[in-house]
Amino acid sequence: HAKEHGRNTFRFYTADMNARAREILAVENQLRRALERDEFVLHYQPQVAMSSGAIVGVEALIRWRHPERGLIGPMQFIPIAEERGLIGDIGEWVLREACRQNRAWQDEGLPPIEVAVNLSAMQFYRRDLAEDITGILKETGLDARWLALEVTESVIVQDVESTIATLAALKAMGLKLAIDDFGTGYSSLSYLKRFKVDKLKVDRSFVMDIPGDADDSAITRAVVNLARNLGLQVIAEGVETPEQWSFLKQEGCDEVQGYLVSPPLPAIDLANRLARGAWTLQG
Ligand code: C2E
Ligand code: MG
Ligand code: MG
Ligand code: MG
Repeated sequence: HAKEHGRNTFRFYTADMNARAREILAVENQLRRALERDEFVLHYQPQVAMSSGAIVGVEALIRWRHPERGLIGPMQFIPIAEERGLIGDIGEWVLREACRQNRAWQDEGLPPIEVAVNLSAMQFYRRDLAEDITGILKETGLDARWLALEVTESVIVQDVESTIATLAALKAMGLKLAIDDFGTGYSSLSYLKRFKVDKLKVDRSFVMDIPGDADDSAITRAVVNLARNLGLQVIAEGVETPEQWSFLKQEGCDEVQGYLVSPPLPAIDLANRLARGAWTLQG
């Protein structure tokens, strides 16, 4: 009986695995065509200064307008793009599109803001990353100070010496560097003084349960203080409630990003938000 059950389980398992493998292969093939067919789109989520409520930046977040499946979020295809070696081309498209759009907003006379782009580890370890970005900035006419790159701790700990060299080259160009999802990776704090980063992003997993959860509140407070004491900027991601806002404000956090202010928006909606001016906390 047990044997039979085991066999069934195994058969079910393999069928499932084959379906999964087929799915990944299908997505890979469609991803290869998506760039040519212009199926990717960036949405932009506001980052506001807590002191003024002004939108000071946006994070560019990729979506895939799939012809049959509709709008697909990055978690469903970025890992596959990374695994199948497609992230270089997609990442380059993201960088170019984000820079082009930010320059277009400036040309429309909107207040200048920073655009933050997420980088995968594989992009970061390309030897000509700084050169590629220089080319994109020149091509799009965006000044480097309006571009920020978000990298995770996992990127930094992979190869410390080469990371320092790459970060130094990027910093020399005048763009901004942020550590994304800070506190969730395996980074050593001692690296923070060697890496010339500008900003720490407190991960949403910590922000989620403040101020009710004592541990998450302590961690968030510690990260904010760490950043301030090192002279770095600090932004909290995933802020959804006025209570979270108040806690962060009291702790001296510089900026906030989250559904409380706005979800990621299509470019046109972001421009309208930007034109309307500062965001204020209601009631
Ligand atoms: P991330 O860089 O940590 O981006 C923040 C994610 O949190 C975004 O999800 C955003 O929509 C979501 N978020 C923001 N505020 C809130 C909130 O208040 N509540 C909740 N529940 N969620 C919030 P999204 O757009 O699905 O992106 C997921 C991840 O995909 C990103 O995490 C980033 O790691 C990756 N990603 C997105 N775009 C790109 C890209 O162009 N290149 C690469 N390499 N990765 C990207
Ligand atoms: Mg990010
Ligand atoms: Mg993040
Ligand atoms: Mg995150």
